[in-house]
Amino acid sequence: RLKEGRALALDVWTIFNAANLPPHCINLGQGYMNFAPPKWVTDAAEEALNTVAPNHYSHPRGRIRLREAIKAFYGPQFNRELDVESEILVTSGANEGQYSVFTAFLEQDDEVIMFEPFFDQYLPSVTFNGGKPVYVPLHPPKDSLENPTSNDWTIDIDELRRAVTPRTKLIIVNTPHNPVGKVFTKSELEAIASIAEEFNLLVMADEVYDCLVFDGKEHVRIANLPGMWDRTVTVGSAGKAFAATGWRIGWLIAPKSIIQPTLAASTRIIFCSNSPLQEAAASGLEQAKERKFFENQLAEYAERRAIIVDAFDKLGMKYTLPHGSYFVLLDISNVDFPDNYPFPSSVLGRGRDFRACWFIAQEVGVSSIPVSEFYCEEHANIGEAYARFAFCKDVDTLRAAAERLQQLK
Ligand code: GLN
Repeated sequence: RLKEGRALALDVWTIFNAANLPPHCINLGQGYMNFAPPKWVTDAAEEALNTVAPNHYSHPRGRIRLREAIKAFYGPQFNRELDVESEILVTSGANEGQYSVFTAFLEQDDEVIMFEPFFDQYLPSVTFNGGKPVYVPLHPPKDSLENPTSNDWTIDIDELRRAVTPRTKLIIVNTPHNPVGKVFTKSELEAIASIAEEFNLLVMADEVYDCLVFDGKEHVRIANLPGMWDRTVTVGSAGKAFAATGWRIGWLIAPKSIIQPTLAASTRIIFCSNSPLQEAAASGLEQAKERKFFENQLAEYAERRAIIVDAFDKLGMKYTLPHGSYFVLLDISNVDFPDNYPFPSSVLGRGRDFRACWFIAQEVGVSSIPVSEFYCEEHANIGEAYARFAFCKDVDTLRAAAERLQQLK
C-alpha cells in the first residue's frame, strides 16, 4: 500500500518549503511563526535542559508535570476531572497522536470520514495504517456571496449520513478548521455527534487551533456533547498554543478505552516525546491563565488577520474571512500567469493553483499554499480556485507582504 498514490507523492510543504523559494520571498505558506515562543516558556525549556531528569526518556504517557498541567488547564473545559494515568497522552506533535490513533484502531480497509478540504496529513496517516479515506464536502460559499466567511463553508448532514458504511470506523472533525478557518457551530457538531452515536463511530476532534477563535465565536468541543466523551479523542498542540511548531509536542485527551490502545501504538512508534520541551509546555499551561496569555495572543492574531484581509479588500479579491485558525483562503481563479513560465516539475504535475502559487511566490515575493493539496485527486479542481495564506507572522512581515500583494491587481 505504500507503492503508489497521493500518500507517496511529494508533499506540498516540501514543494513550497522556504528552501525552494527565492530568498527574498515572504513566507506565508507553511503555518509556522517567524517569532519566538514567549520568553517565560523558553526559560522553562532552558531550565529543563540544565536539569538531569528531563534530558532522558519520559514516561510514554508523557512527563507527569505536563499531564498534570493538561489536566488543570483542560479539565474545566471538558467539565471533568481528567485522570492523568488513563485519559491524557502526550504525543510528538498532534500529528503523531493522530497517527497512533489510526494505528491503534484501524483494521485493514476500515473507512475514515473526513470533511473536504482536509488537513493533508490525514490522508497518508489513514492509508499508511490500512484505512480508506472517505470524503464529505464542506461546500464552498456561493459565488454570489460578496464577503464570505468561514461559516459560509457548509456541511450537508445527509451527505455525511450517506457516506457511512458498515466499514466506517471514525470521523475526523477539525475545528477550527485548516485550511478554511471554519469554527463548527454547536448545531453542526450536534448533527455530526448524532450520526456518530447512531452508527457507533469514533470521533477524532482535531482542535489544535482552539486558542484561535475570533469574532466572539464559541469553540465547541464535540467531546462535551451528550454521550460523546466515550467515543471522542480530542487533539491539542503546544506548537500552536505557544508558537513552537518545531517542538513537536501535542496531546490527546480521551477516555481510557481510547488512550490505552493509542498509548500501546505510540510507545512502539516513538516510545516517548521530546522530554525537556514537555517541561516547557507544562510551564506554559501552568502560567497561561495568570498571564492572560491566550487572551493577549488572540488579540495579536486578530491584528495580524486584519492586515492580511485588508490587503485582499484593497485588491478587491475575494477571500474567506476565517473565524478561527491562522489561515485565509484567497480566490486566485483570476490570477493570470504565462503558461510557459519555468515551473519546476513538482508543480507542473499538479493543479492550476500549484502553478499560480509558485508564480506569485516568484514574481510577487509572497508564498502561499495551493489548496488542491487539501482535496483528494477526484475533487482537486474545487481546491484549485484557492491559495492559503498563513498570518502567524509578526505585523511588520505581514505589512510588507500586504504591500507586495497589491501587485496582484
Ligand atoms: N499545520 C501546518 C500547516 O497547515 C503544517 C504542518 C506540516 O507541515 N505537516 O501549515
